[in-house]
Parts: sequence; structure tokens; C-alpha cells
Amino acid sequence: MKSGFVNIFGKPNAGKSTLLNALMGEKLAIVSHKVQTTRHRIKAILTNPGYQVIFSDTPGIIEPKYKLHEKMMQAVKGSLEDADLALLITDARENPDESNAIFSMLRLKAPALVVLNKSDAVSAEDLEKATQFFKGQTYCKEVMVISALKNKGIDTLLEKIISLLPEGAAFYEGEDISDLPTKFFVGELIREKIFLLYGEEIPYHATVLVQEFKEKTTLIKIGADIIVQRDTQKGIILGEGGKMIKQLGTLARKDIEAFLNNKVFLELFVKVRPKWRDNEMQLKEYGY
Ligand code: GDP
Ligand code: MG
Repeated sequence: MKSGFVNIFGKPNAGKSTLLNALMGEKLAIVSHKVQTTRHRIKAILTNPGYQVIFSDTPGIIEPKYKLHEKMMQAVKGSLEDADLALLITDARENPDESNAIFSMLRLKAPALVVLNKSDAVSAEDLEKATQFFKGQTYCKEVMVISALKNKGIDTLLEKIISLLPEGAAFYEGEDISDLPTKFFVGELIREKIFLLYGEEIPYHATVLVQEFKEKTTLIKIGADIIVQRDTQKGIILGEGGKMIKQLGTLARKDIEAFLNNKVFLELFVKVRPKWRDNEMQLKEYGY
């Protein structure tokens, strides 16, 4: 039996969440074209005969302007070194210098695979160039070329990951694929739809709290609050005659049903709490 911890790390938009979803074969982490939607460190557990891999998805906090933020780097380094293996993921379309600067600065002691993602969007020649570039770096054990979106190279990557994990019994028992409660993922799926449906500002001012989760005989009844700071934001979330929130509910329900593999009755409420961002008690209540 092989088992261990794997931390997925890379700049915002490199494709960390997409990769995690591809590895898990199920929609667990929030995916968005907008940066910093993953506020939590999500852990997912992949258990199969012979191995258990525990993945975490480091929030995309490493922006170039934060490069010198010592504390932040320490936190990232710490979480990466807690892991048996780090996946340093980078967008193959980008100049590798910036990612390389960040990866080098971490001075990782844990073994690291450089994962060149979005191979579907670059020429074979550029891929080869980037591969050679990263192969030459001291922190890089091996370069893996994938397309998380097109599910290419995922099986090979998983085999490589397993081969590098230590021998040992599983850390987690049972069929739980995640140590985070189902309610959390339901909230994340709703939040993802808020990102999809509303303009620039709204998603950053809204949070989702799943208040009710009841398993009935034929369906699961879910009630969630969407918390915003101002009445105007509430109006936007609702839309004219409630048109927008209806659309939001339908989209979210479909994904939640697929995730839970069950029929779902979803009720959404919009609530205004003017200072939820500032109030520490409330932040705690909301899990931040
Ligand atoms: P994260 O911020 O690192 O978690 O990145 P996401 O997983 O949210 O992905 C950011 C964007 O890149 C999304 O629009 C994805 O659909 C896109 N993306 C992720 N992987 C690939 C890939 O292999 N190929 C292409 N073309 N796009 C990808
Ligand atoms: Mg993400």
C-alpha cells in the first residue's frame, strides 16, 4: 500500500482546481476563470486498491506582487513541505520565468513534479522548450505534461504520483472522498454559479451559507443563504422579478444533484449583513 499527501501549487489560473477535479473524476473544487475563487484549502482523498492520495489545493495567493511577502511564502512553503510530494503546476502558454522565480524561492525540501498544464493550447515545440527549461531546475524531479481540461496525461501523472509516495497504510478510512463536509461543497457549487452569472463586483461581496441539509425519502432538501453587504447587491442577485436568482438556483441545483447523485430541492435566500467582512465573529461563523 502506498499513501501520502500531495499539495498542488501554482499561480492563480494555472489550473489547480481543474487538475484536482480531473484527478478525482468528480467535481469537488471550485473552477473559475476569475482568480482567487478558492478561498479554502480543499483536501480530497483518492482511495483505490493499493493506494491513497490526499490532495490539497493551495489557494492561489502567489501573485507576483506578493513575491517578497515573507510570511506568505513561509506559509506556502510550510504547507508544501508538510506534503510528501508537491505538484508545481504552471500554464504552458506563459513564459516560464515567473513561475520558476516563485518555485525557486520556495527552496523546497519535499520532492516536486513540475506539471506543465494546458498542453492543448501550445505547440509541441514550445512544450519541448518549457520541458527542457524546467528539467534543468534543481527543485524539479520530473516534468509532466498534461491538459487538465482535456483530461490528457492525467493517468500517467497519477501513476507517477503513486510511485513517489511512501509505503504505508491509508490515513483515512471509509468511502469519504473528502474530509470537508458535504455542506461545504454544496456552498462552493452555489458560489461557483454566482461567479458565472454576475458581474465583476458581486461575487467578491457575496458568501454562501448552507443552513439546511435534510435527507428526505425521495430527495435532499437544501436551504442556503446568500449573504451580501448592501441592498443594491441584494437587488442584483435577485434580478428583475427574481429572474436571476431563479436561474442561479436552477444551475446550482443541477450541479448539486450530479455531485450528490440524488434529487435535490434547493431554496436560496438573500440576506443583507452590512459588515460581514469586517466582523471577526461573523467571519468565524462563515468559516474563514
Ligand atoms: P486555478 O486558479 O489554478 O485553480 O485554475 P482553474 O482550475 O480555476 O483554471 C483556470 C482557467 O484555466 C479555467 O478557465 C480553466 O478552464 C482553464 N484551464 C485549466 N486547465 C486547462 C487546460 O488544460 N487547458 C486549457 N486550455 N485551459 C485550462
Ligand atoms: Mg482554484
